[in-house]
Amino acid sequence: MEIRFLGGAREIGRSALLIDDRLLLDFGLDSGTPPQYPLGDVEPEAVVVSHGHLDHVGSVPGLLSGDARPPVHWTPPTRDLAMLLARGTLRLRGGTYDCPFTEADLARLTQVSETHGYKAPFEVAGYEVTFFDAGHIPGSAHVLVDDGETRLLYTGDFHTADQRLVAGTTARPDADVVICESTYADTTRPQRAEIEAAFVDFLERTVWNGGTVVVPAFAIGRTQEVVCLCAAHDIPCYVDGMGTRVLELLLESENRPFCRDPDELRRAAGHARIVDGRDGQRKRIAEQNTVIITTSGMLHGGPAMTYVPAIRSNPTNAIAFTGYQVAGTPGRDLLETGSAEIDGRVRPVSAQVEQFDLSAHADRDGLCAFLADYRASQVLINHGDRCEAFAESLRADDFDARAPELGARLEVSLRAR
Ligand SMILES: [Zn+2]
Repeated sequence: MEIRFLGGAREIGRSALLIDDRLLLDFGLDSGTPPQYPLGDVEPEAVVVSHGHLDHVGSVPGLLSGDARPPVHWTPPTRDLAMLLARGTLRLRGGTYDCPFTEADLARLTQVSETHGYKAPFEVAGYEVTFFDAGHIPGSAHVLVDDGETRLLYTGDFHTADQRLVAGTTARPDADVVICESTYADTTRPQRAEIEAAFVDFLERTVWNGGTVVVPAFAIGRTQEVVCLCAAHDIPCYVDGMGTRVLELLLESENRPFCRDPDELRRAAGHARIVDGRDGQRKRIAEQNTVIITTSGMLHGGPAMTYVPAIRSNPTNAIAFTGYQVAGTPGRDLLETGSAEIDGRVRPVSAQVEQFDLSAHADRDGLCAFLADYRASQVLINHGDRCEAFAESLRADDFDARAPELGARLEVSLRAR
């Protein structure tokens, strides 16, 4: 079995792996400026997608722009999230050089889509492929690829701890080779329950003191997670941005089984008030004593940038980040300097600013606990900012581990160690 690392190798974004020049695992898009795509022109026989985040699925519709019609295999939530993301990309960049596909490609995608559940093996391009619940977001999968000789496990993004939306991964299928993500290989965080308690306490105190809390959150996963937390603690909240559409998608009958507790999610959706943004609605909400959950998670734009200017001057108000803020984003600037670029000008923010790590990824302990079951396997580290350092620390712990570089071709096979 030969693996080509077309993206997501020693980096995060545009994840893509090509097996034997036939089977493509993920085909992501790095939505920076300009956007970045996986390397090379690939014409796979089939595509398998691990989960519905842009950096894993964002370039998939572009595979259908020529005459080829490779089937695309995924879980039902991954399909729906991929379509939602693709329509967003078209709205944002459609018709420009920076859009890797057209409306017509998207229509073709629905024709080649094939959905599968967890632990249900299927045949594709001469391989047996099986999805296992990766505990990252609804529908996220570890992908096991078996060619009859070698079993390759591609972890995709995963979490070992339980979240409100999904339970942590428990699947550890036998594998000869494991390609493992390492997003938070440098982080050790407190127990999830502790972080949630601190977050909830911060929201409750701010609202109790008469303030408004803006919670910038990623649309897929994080927004719904925070909605569930607010409902569980009876904290009044509004939801705005693309996360509202994701909430509806997850509650559709085909997707409900991929949520940890679909009834809790339905109750939470009923608890939250959905914002449609008409008639100055956002300005009025920003004056209320409430929590507002909204995109974008790093203040790149989206409705968050209507709310933040409206609440920034009052120290009774607050901004509660729910995840890592990438260097160079307004969110990171705000955390570090207390100011951020708002409406084209750097402005001070008097509202309280806090960060809570409600990540959907395993931390270092989680990654090591997962890999503990693969001491006899060949381990290949990807999807991280410091893949080589993590691989090196695994080698020091007697793992056969390395971090292939972008563009690498690697022959792997069943081996006894
Ligand atoms: Zn992800």
